Amino acid sequence: MAAFTIAIDGPAAAGKGTISKAVAAHFGAAHLDTGLLYRAVGARMLAGETPGAAAQALQAEDLENSALRSAEVAQAASEVAVLPEVRAALLTFQREFARRDGGAVLDGRDIGTVICPNAEAKLFVTANAEVRARRRFAELQERGASTDFARVLADVKARDHRDSTRADAPLKAAADSVVIDTSDMDIDAAVAAAIEAVQARL
Ligand code: C5P
Repeated sequence: MAAFTIAIDGPAAAGKGTISKAVAAHFGAAHLDTGLLYRAVGARMLAGETPGAAAQALQAEDLENSALRSAEVAQAASEVAVLPEVRAALLTFQREFARRDGGAVLDGRDIGTVICPNAEAKLFVTANAEVRARRRFAELQERGASTDFARVLADVKARDHRDSTRADAPLKAAADSVVIDTSDMDIDAAVAAAIEAVQARL
């Protein structure tokens, strides 16, 4: 099948990951969680490397590190994501992935605006900060992390602020994206809405 790109952007814990996997499975496309790239660079920075050099040296194995899901690495990811040299080093890999045969779903913050402005379908998946923090809190608890809700909410808000106010590729909905607010939706409803919106564009 020919190449097509589905761009799915939005703030932390809006449901992008689950929706992207389901959309990719539905359309038989490959999926790339681009947040993992920034998390992997963030993890290498926490281990003492310079972010720009870490981004250039990134290997596939870096993405398989289970520690990438921690709250500490999430914050480090959003810190390195501000740096233009980090974003530039990760660009080609993402664009090549986007044009692979059989189609690709990429989720992140700047896929529809910067990485793949010509994507065939663009979604912006969002939800209010309280709802997102509640979901992230439940997820962290399930993994046995010790944290409290106020801390998770503060982290979500700090990342939202840093991601949307940075100069290079800030988090924002592309003008031609379909916005899906999942605040009052369960995951099945959100996935159904996403598939319907993509179907209408492909
Ligand atoms: O999506 P996830 O929570 O894994 O992303 C971690 C961080 O990586 C985000 O807070 C954001 O700063 C950065 N990121 C980005 N651009 C992307 C994906 C993630 O700046 N396309």
